Order: sequence, then C-alpha cells, then structure tokens
Amino acid sequence: MAHEAILWERLAPDDPRVRCNLCAHRCVIPPGRLGVCHVRENRDGTLYTLVYGRTISQHVDPIEKKPLFHFQPGSSSYSIATAGCNFRCAFCQNWEISQMPREQKTILGSPATPAQIAQAARRAGCASIAYTYTEPTVFAEYALDTAREALALGLKNVFVSNGYMTPELVHLMTGLIHGINVDLKAGRGEFYHKISGAALEPVLANLKLLQQAGIWLEVTTLVIPGLNDNDAELRWVASYLFNELGPDVPWHISRFYPQYKMSDRPPTPAATLERAWHIGRDVGLHYVYVGNVPGHRSESTFCPRCGTTVIERYGYHVNIRALKNGVCTQCGTAIVGVEMP
Ligand code: SF4
Repeated sequence: MAHEAILWERLAPDDPRVRCNLCAHRCVIPPGRLGVCHVRENRDGTLYTLVYGRTISQHVDPIEKKPLFHFQPGSSSYSIATAGCNFRCAFCQNWEISQMPREQKTILGSPATPAQIAQAARRAGCASIAYTYTEPTVFAEYALDTAREALALGLKNVFVSNGYMTPELVHLMTGLIHGINVDLKAGRGEFYHKISGAALEPVLANLKLLQQAGIWLEVTTLVIPGLNDNDAELRWVASYLFNELGPDVPWHISRFYPQYKMSDRPPTPAATLERAWHIGRDVGLHYVYVGNVPGHRSESTFCPRCGTTVIERYGYHVNIRALKNGVCTQCGTAIVGVEMP
C-alpha cells in the first residue's frame, strides 16, 4: 500500500520532479518513476513509499545473529524486513527479497501494522525489534513508526544497515533506534562503486554521525577472497575504526559464502579470517570477532585488560562467564555496550 514518504522535496514549486533525501543517492525522480531502490515512487509530484506495512520476513532471532554482541547479550530480537534495497551487492545473502522490486518488478509482503509488529515482539518475549535482512533505510517510515510503538512497550530498536542513510535520517533515528550494525564492506571507493553501486564516503561519515548520535554501533566487514582480503585493505579498515571511532567499537569479520552473482569464488578460508582478526587486534581494537564460523574461539568476548573470557559464545549459544553489571569480574574493567549483564 502506498504511503506518503518522509524526507523528500520538490525541485521547484512548478516542477513535478522530486528529490528523495532518505539515502545518499538523493535520487531525483520524475513523475511516474521510481528511485534507485525501486520502492519509492513519484506520483503526480508527491513521493510515496510502496513498502509501508508490508513485511516480507518476520522472525525471532538471537540478537547475536545481527550481529550485535554488546547489545542486550543473549536476548531475542523480533526481526522484520520489507522488500527492497538501495544497494545491489553482487554477494547479497538476501537477494531474493532485497532485489525483488528491481529484478522481478514486484513487491510482495504480508500486511502488518507497526502496532501489530510491536505486540508480536512483546508476545514472543523479545527485548528489541530489529529492522534487518534488507536495508531498513528504504523502509524508514515503517521502521520508525514501528520503533515508536516498540518504545512505548519498553522494547529497544536496532538497525542492520549498509550505512547509506542521509544525516537527516540519522537525526530522525536519534532516540528511537538504540543500536546499529553497519557494514563497512571495504576501504576503497572503487569496491563500493563496482560491487554495490554506491559510494564509500557517505558510509564513512555516517559511522561517526551514528556514534555521535548516541546509537550503539558495531561494524561488520565481509571478507571476500581476492576482493578485500589483502593485509593493506584490512589494516586500512581496522585503522579507520580505531582512529575515528575509538578502540571499543566491535568489529565483526565475517566469512563469505558463494552467493547470488558471486558464486565463482570459494568461502573465505579460516586462516584469512584469523589474519584479519590479528590485524584488528594489532591496530588496537578491543573487540574483534570472527563471524560465520560457528565454534571459532574469536566469537567470544575477552576482557581487553586481563584477557578473561567474559562472554563465551558457541554459534548463538551465549554463556555469561565473568561479567557482572557490565564489569569484568576478574579485574573490574568495564565491558562497553547496551544493557550488558
Ligand atoms: S531511498 Fe535512496 S535509493 Fe531510494 S529513492 Fe530515496 S534516495 Fe533513491
């Protein structure tokens, strides 16, 4: 169902073209046309979202699956998505739903109001709602309305995002969205341009902006053999996080599996991920995690001061071992995050 969009403007009072200011593409859309994401349409000079209230996925997930390791650890997050994305990553794991509007020229989804989603989350015993699987920026109206309902029920809200929103949207998220995992896919603009159809700079700027807005931030880099797995690039990414965001931002180094248009290369070798882990720690990041390798030692959280395993993880099984009131029980160092045990 069409619903008037937020964050758009007419190019001029007598010009029916509109500019969408939801993401850094800032599409200029003539009447009858769609934006890059294919879920926002100019109808007679007014911009509409075509995905409001239409969920393509609803699941109860561990918050660790987002991944968010320092946000209500061990809790469940009610996870929703609509169809559509403003990127077109060749390795997308959820391409059937993220690229559906663009490739199949259709938008499927089941009707659900924001209040219904929030109530379902509470009934399921979730501590938060996650806007995830596809890009929440392109369903921001629906996500923010749902976040308001969730907040009224005492639940928190998290985004899993490519980080391509505008500063205007970050402003609207402030106070409603409590945590976010942003993909920093590479340290080169060329990668973003070729593989995702986007630019690197807005993502880099948003990492800082989101942190300054008080939204808990974790970062994920999918390490793809032959594309972004060399030492120099991994070190650039880790150094950017350390220098611009500080040592406490968790960095998830995730294993690639052949997907979608990138089925021609092998999964990331464990040795590559371990090399990346060492680079992150060597640069000075306190919390570096290897992802998509269940049972890997580096899924656990270690105290950055004394090295004690404070939270042990095996896949999505979480064992709070040496953490009390957010502090390492061995040496008293604070382990940063949101509602840490
Ligand atoms: S959300 Fe982004 S891609 Fe979609 S119409 Fe707006 S500016 Fe374009």
